[in-house]
Amino acid sequence: QAPARDSVIFVAGARGMVGSALVRRLHAGGYTRVLAPGRDELDLMDGPAVHAWLQRHQPEYLFIAAAKVGGIQANNTYRADFLYQNLSIQNHLIHGAHLAGVQRLMFLGSSCIYPKLAPQPLVEDCLLTGPLEPTNEPYAVAKIAGIKMCEAYNAQHGRQYVSVMPTNLYGPNDNYDLANSHVLPALIRKAHEARLRGDAEYVVWGSGTPQREFLYVDDLADACVHLMEAGYDGPLVNIGTGEDVTIRELAETVMRIVGFEGRIVFDASKPDGTPRKLLDVSRLRAQGWQARTTLAEGISAAYKDFLRGGLRTGA
Ligand code: GDP
Repeated sequence: QAPARDSVIFVAGARGMVGSALVRRLHAGGYTRVLAPGRDELDLMDGPAVHAWLQRHQPEYLFIAAAKVGGIQANNTYRADFLYQNLSIQNHLIHGAHLAGVQRLMFLGSSCIYPKLAPQPLVEDCLLTGPLEPTNEPYAVAKIAGIKMCEAYNAQHGRQYVSVMPTNLYGPNDNYDLANSHVLPALIRKAHEARLRGDAEYVVWGSGTPQREFLYVDDLADACVHLMEAGYDGPLVNIGTGEDVTIRELAETVMRIVGFEGRIVFDASKPDGTPRKLLDVSRLRAQGWQARTTLAEGISAAYKDFLRGGLRTGA
């Protein structure tokens, strides 16, 4: 069931936060033939190139960790780019994998695929039971199409294409661009810079009341490899910790870890987004996996990475 240690495993999106964590985890697990091309080597927006790459390398397993991603403001601003680029990348990879005879792959989505007002915690079966959160609807629609595409290739062609839905992720190689990043890297950077400047306050978007769940990206990679090795080929699986915090609590934790001693000011001109998106993780637990890194440990590790890497920006 589990791929051999010398199987060819292709990580699409290997230079991103999630893909690079998957590559680290696979190497640590003893896999010796991990393909991790960067954009210079393989442009995932180029369909014929992706198809040819898959034909040539014949991977035993494909992780689709490639996507255009961003925080609430990026999703809401670049709506066409999020829809078009994500549909293109996943179409090229999923259909290309099928044409090349790749039997198993894992498609990574996001918890924003679930309806805005679905009951919490979010069970996998609430997919497509109600309207989406408008700020990230284009991204969510692309990801839902990817899930349905995997299901369709399984039904029509007997493939074993699995979809997993991680909660909000953070960790090494995150994007710290203030306008386009997710909340956690943005708060780490803002608190750090406020401390250096000796500011009295730091600005947090929205009301501080939305609740979010955060998973350290190395835990995500571990869960994905766990499912691969278990030969999991069942329905959609959520990947999270099963616990969430308010944005205010998050901002306070970040301040404490970064050592910024001022106060928080909320900028109500910025959107709150969905009020809550806590994942129900019972399906994953039934597969024998649980998150290990606490939020405080993860933020400390992410802050160290931020200090080492300086300010990375861009998608
Ligand atoms: P979301 O989970 O799709 O809503 O994406 P984000 O991670 O971008 O935002 C999560 C929540 O954090 C939203 O309620 C934001 O308004 C709030 N937030 C507070 N400060 C910031 C910030 O500096 N950047 C971002 N991206 N979000 C922030």
